[in-house]
Amino acid sequence: TSSLDVAAIRADFPILTRQVHGRPLVYLDNAATSQTPRQVIDTFAAYYGGYNANIHRGLHTLADEATAAFEGTRETVRGFLNAADSREIIFTRGTTEAINLVANSWGRANLQAGDEVLISRLEHHSNIVPWQLLAAEIGFTIKVIPVDAHGTLDLDAYRELFSERTRLVAVNHVSNAFGTVNPVKEMATIAHAHGARILVDGAQATPHQAVDVRDLDADFYAFSGHKVYGPTGVGVLYGKTELLEAMPPWQGGGEMIATVSFEAETTFAEIPHKFEAGTPAIAEVIALGEALKWVSGVGVEAIGAWEGRLLAHATERVLRIDGLRILGTSPEKAGVLSFVVDGAHAQDIGLLIDQLGVAIRTGHHCAQPLLAHFGVDATCRASFAAYNTLDEIDIFADALERVIGMVR
Ligand code: PMP
Repeated sequence: TSSLDVAAIRADFPILTRQVHGRPLVYLDNAATSQTPRQVIDTFAAYYGGYNANIHRGLHTLADEATAAFEGTRETVRGFLNAADSREIIFTRGTTEAINLVANSWGRANLQAGDEVLISRLEHHSNIVPWQLLAAEIGFTIKVIPVDAHGTLDLDAYRELFSERTRLVAVNHVSNAFGTVNPVKEMATIAHAHGARILVDGAQATPHQAVDVRDLDADFYAFSGHKVYGPTGVGVLYGKTELLEAMPPWQGGGEMIATVSFEAETTFAEIPHKFEAGTPAIAEVIALGEALKWVSGVGVEAIGAWEGRLLAHATERVLRIDGLRILGTSPEKAGVLSFVVDGAHAQDIGLLIDQLGVAIRTGHHCAQPLLAHFGVDATCRASFAAYNTLDEIDIFADALERVIGMVR
């Protein structure tokens, strides 16, 4: 069924009762960051008030409890992604750091001058710039998988981009700017047939659909806690065991070593610890585990279906507005509505609609190459989550009509 008990869900989110400029908050900027349920917020007080300690090293009770909760989250994440082994789960600061880890560890070990990396036109800057920085050093070539007029990746063009020098495909699962859902399973099959690896940026997929890294056959999969009802400052890199074991460490420090010596060679810990130098964001990791349990409790598939209804209603409402054009009209779309309006700047719309209590995003959404391709430098973006209601969509659409009337 595509209906959730949205009233019960909303009751989990304290922030949703607040007002903005004297009006009830209508929060439609979920693709930037989602709100956080009480269960996740409470984790911080429970941790700092009850068992705050550094993990892995201590022999005392608090350290044991913190380590158990931290490592328990690794198992929760493994289950959430259906990875084969919890050693394949590495905690990072977010999607950005996860991609930088792959670029700096796997990339430096496996990419040479003349090699080719395929990136899609739909990428977030965090899945472009790490590859550009490395390409400038190493001298490999970046090739761009094109999109059609709907913002759908052109799979025929994708197939033709491969050569015997293609080593990696880096693509998002769902586009943050347009909401396009990419056929990453099919793309992985094609990449593997050419002997290339595939990294999937799942930052926008994990909040909306069930992800099974084994079914996708993704070599690497990255996501961020704060987009999936968890806290900021924590994210995940999944990598296949054989790849992670062969990769050199990226950052050095405590936690990631086996033995350190000035006389003999320093040796490194086994995965996943080899990639987790220093004290991690312990409370945030534990809170991420609570967020994933919350999502699984509600049912990520039911959440995605509900957001599909919100998207359909929002699309139908805004298309009544004269001179409004939706960017991203792929048939496979998550709950993201990106649009431009003739005679009204995105920034003006964003500022004025905030005065009516409605939070949307305006700008380039860290996807400048995509927006440039469509001839715009900014869009307005409304993006949906489990707690949004059809009434809120109407408030948003009414407010949008009013604001456009003011600026035109
Ligand atoms: N990829 C995509 C598709 C995103 O939407 C985002 C966040 N907007 C990121 C990567 C970067 O995530 P973070 O800032 O949490 O590292």
